[in-house]
Amino acid sequence: LPEEFKQALPILTTITAAGFEAYFVGGSVRDTILNKPIHDVDIASSAYPAEVKNLFKKTVDTGIQHGTVMILDHGHGYEVTTFRTESGYQDYRRPDQVTFVRSLAEDLMRRDFTINALAMNAKGVVTDLFGGLTDLNDHVIKAVGDPAARFHEDALRMMRAVRFSSQLNFQIEAETKQAIASQAELLTKIAMERIHEEFVKLMMGQAASQGVEQLISTKLYQYLPGLNERVSELRPLADQKFELANENQVWSFLAMTLGISASQVSDWLKKWKTANKIVKDVTEMVQLLTVIKSQTVSNWDLYVAGRQNVLDALAVSRWLNMPYRPDLLQHYDQLVITQKKQLTISGKELMQNQIVTAGPVLGQVLSYLEQQVVAGDLANEPDLLVLAAKNYVQEISK
Ligand code: ATP
Ligand code: MG
Repeated sequence: LPEEFKQALPILTTITAAGFEAYFVGGSVRDTILNKPIHDVDIASSAYPAEVKNLFKKTVDTGIQHGTVMILDHGHGYEVTTFRTESGYQDYRRPDQVTFVRSLAEDLMRRDFTINALAMNAKGVVTDLFGGLTDLNDHVIKAVGDPAARFHEDALRMMRAVRFSSQLNFQIEAETKQAIASQAELLTKIAMERIHEEFVKLMMGQAASQGVEQLISTKLYQYLPGLNERVSELRPLADQKFELANENQVWSFLAMTLGISASQVSDWLKKWKTANKIVKDVTEMVQLLTVIKSQTVSNWDLYVAGRQNVLDALAVSRWLNMPYRPDLLQHYDQLVITQKKQLTISGKELMQNQIVTAGPVLGQVLSYLEQQVVAGDLANEPDLLVLAAKNYVQEISK
């Protein structure tokens, strides 16, 4: 057993000592067998949520309506989910309604792929009802049961198949793949937030170009904003190596590849329901990458982007057909200021010195000083800033 499972063993033994069943399940079992690092330890149990809560001192109702209770133990949180079946799928989306059951087999049956439908008990013995171990060994993603029916129940599973294929560098089994190709359109039923999550993981996978190839060959790409209308720009990615380390890198790499300009990034990423902070960062990265490609990079370009975005943009540029400019990071680190508040004079002081009164002009003056200092045209010293501010106010009031 891996260290994470050993630490969680008391949870399993407490539940089983009370007469219930408990197993490690899902991604952590799959990744353990593959010898990969595991992130979260998921536990499934025949005990109902109320029964689980009775057995432990500290619990949190993280998803009690779906049967999930979090157990807090020595600073770790473990999610224990009651065996359940999902019924009443409507509109090709995951059901809200679940039924708790006492049988492990029924719980494993509702899971998406054979490699995700394994359970491991406290002794490390694996329950494998659908050939998941063979598929792990053969590097195959295969739906549990009839693939077409499973994608009808929850169309997001089609994206998950390609995502796991990219993360694990596995092939999608023929019938499973065929079922995706013939009903890719069902993806339109799925909330963009859920598609987004799978897509970003896919693009960050070790076999991401294979993932892109599968998005194209299954036609899933037709339902992904921005990719749908640019398949000729997308296609080369299927034959090209790229490694992306975070979500900002994913979107900026794609924007540059697909020909989405900095000014188009916001509309595009809003369709993907991307968080505002990410939209902002990606816009700045695409702006910077565009400048690196065709112009001389100014202090201001680097300043506006910020250090992390410069780093991420450099990482992305390696996979784009453009100059690699690691010197730009040194350049960034030599900027006199990296934030407006590092100006040696504040708006308040400018007002106290009667150079400007509160209002829009104040903002203009500060922006001017900021640009001058960043460009290296003005030293960041209070006396000089006051003087420059005075001159500037005179200039604009002419
Ligand atoms: P990761 O390493 O990315 O967390 P994971 O396999 O743990 O991968 P999760 O999304 O965390 O994936 O889901 C945990 C488990 O729940 C899966 O292994 C699978 O058994 C089941 N599961 C998750 N989503 C679905 C779904 N849409 N349909 C069926 N089963 C699912
Ligand atoms: Mg998981």
